[in-house]
Amino acid sequence: MHEFSLCEGIIHQVSRANNNNLENVEQINLEIGKLAGVDLNSLLFWFPVVAEKLNCKHIKLNVVEPLGIANCKNCTKDFELVNLYDQCPHCNSFGNYEIKQGRELLVKSFNLISKQ
Ligand SMILES: [Zn+2]
Repeated sequence: MHEFSLCEGIIHQVSRANNNNLENVEQINLEIGKLAGVDLNSLLFWFPVVAEKLNCKHIKLNVVEPLGIANCKNCTKDFELVNLYDQCPHCNSFGNYEIKQGRELLVKSFNLISKQ
């Protein structure tokens, strides 16, 4: 149910940013990094359910998923981190890195329905 409350939070956040109005919101653009720990399928499943509950089922969801990128502290090279605690493919050191990208979980922007 984590993703259910996440959907509620996203919609509330957009509502607040748009003067407590959801009627004119066409699409919400999300950024969910591969390492954010979010089950995207679950999120996509729950979003319309939550949107209907909050009377805004017309809102579409657009999600981009930034790859996990880490910087190795041992050899200072960047590499793609698919799973946490992967080893560096350049120098084979384990768990000695700083995550630079992939933990994002945010509402990037939202689009308003253009007036006729
Ligand atoms: Zn390395």
